[in-house]
Amino acid sequence: MRVKFWGVRGSIPTPLRPSEVEGKVIAMAEDVVRAGITDADEVAGYLRRRHSMLQRGTAGGNTTCVSVEWPGSMLIIDAGSGIRVLGEQLMEGPCGRGEGELHIVLSHTHWDHIQGLPFFAPLFQRNTVHIYGCHDNLEQRLRYQQQPDHFPISMDAFLARLEFHRCAPGEPVGLPGGARFIPHRLDHPGDSYGYRVEHDGSSLVFASDSEHKPNDPENHHGIIDFFRDADLVVFDSQYTLEESIIKEDWGHSSAIVGVDLAAHAGVKRLALFHHEPSYPDSFIHNLLMKAQTYRDVNHNGCGLELFVAVEGIDVTL
Ligand SMILES: [Zn+2]
Ligand SMILES: [Zn+2]
Repeated sequence: MRVKFWGVRGSIPTPLRPSEVEGKVIAMAEDVVRAGITDADEVAGYLRRRHSMLQRGTAGGNTTCVSVEWPGSMLIIDAGSGIRVLGEQLMEGPCGRGEGELHIVLSHTHWDHIQGLPFFAPLFQRNTVHIYGCHDNLEQRLRYQQQPDHFPISMDAFLARLEFHRCAPGEPVGLPGGARFIPHRLDHPGDSYGYRVEHDGSSLVFASDSEHKPNDPENHHGIIDFFRDADLVVFDSQYTLEESIIKEDWGHSSAIVGVDLAAHAGVKRLALFHHEPSYPDSFIHNLLMKAQTYRDVNHNGCGLELFVAVEGIDVTL
C-alpha cells in the first residue's frame, strides 16, 4: 500500500504567512552562502541533504486528507482542504472523463475534515463516489455544509453519483482489489472514528481526532488492540504533552502519548499528524526531536520509527 498525505493540519487551514516564507528564504540563502556554494546546480541538493522539509519547506497548511492506494483501488480518508489538490490529480485519470469510482471514508464531520469536499473536482463529473462513515445522518451533515447560508453551491450541483454507506465499529468493510477497513470509535467530542486499512498483509491505522486518557483503561486497551503490529499509525499529536493535560476533553493528544501507545502495540512507524495551527514548523520539528528522545529513554530498542506527516510526502508499506 502507498499512503500519501494531502492535508496534515488540524482544526483550520494554516498557510504560511508572507513573513514566515521570507524568514525561511533568508535562512536558507544565508546557509548556502556560509557553506561557500557558488554553483547554482548544487544548491537544491545541498539544502535537501542538510535540512528537513519542515526547515526548508513547511509541514503544510491544508486540513486532513490522506489517501491509501493498492493495486486496483484506493481509499481517501477525510475531506479536509487537502482533498482539493488530490482531486486535481485524480482529474488527470478516469475521473476527468467521468469514468472514476472513488471511495471516501470520513472520521467525523468537524469542519476541518469535510470543508474540502465542495472543492473536490471529481464530484463535478459523472463519477461514482462512495462515502463511508459511522455517524448517523452523514448525507444531511454534508448537505448542511453547502446550504445557501454557508456556501453558494448546493450538493445538488454535483454530477457524480453519491452512494452513502453507514459503517459500524469493529465491522470490516471490503473494498475493490482485496483491501478492507475496520472502524474504531475514538474519544473525541461528537465522536470520531479511526480506520485500520489492511491489504495483502500490510496495515495502516488512521487515528485522528482522538484523545487518550491514561485513567481510562478500557479505552487504552481498545486502542492497543486497534494499533496492534500496524506498519504505520497516523496519530493525532496536535498538542504538547503539557497542553494536552491543560486542554483535557478538547479531543486531541500528544506525540509522547502516541509513542507510549505505539511502542506497547508493536507499531513499526508513527506519523505525527493533525498539527496545531499555532505551532510553527520549527516547533513541530522540536516535538519530533523530544518524542524521539522520549522513545529512546523509555522504550529503548522497540524499533518504532517516528516522523512528522508533511503535506505531499508518501510512504510505502
Ligand atoms: Zn480535526
Ligand atoms: Zn474533530
